[in-house]
Amino acid sequence: MADCKSLAGCPFFNDKMPDTSGLGAIYKKKYCQGDPAKCARYMVFTKLGKPAVPPDMYPNMIELAQQILARH
Ligand code: SF4
Repeated sequence: MADCKSLAGCPFFNDKMPDTSGLGAIYKKKYCQGDPAKCARYMVFTKLGKPAVPPDMYPNMIELAQQILARH
């Protein structure tokens, strides 16, 4: 269990993205304050930098993250 190093600047963690699924709090616990390495946003920004992270990508969108990483 560890806090993500991007907590302060992350739009998902700071409620700048709509929580349409109602799972925001669960994701924060699971990814942001649990296992950031499994977060789709984290995967993309650690490998490609913050500008490569789609603004509407949620932590559970692993397939999208893998597609983005595969393209680079
Ligand atoms: S785990 Fe993902 S969603 Fe959470 S703060 Fe880090 S980059 Fe943002």
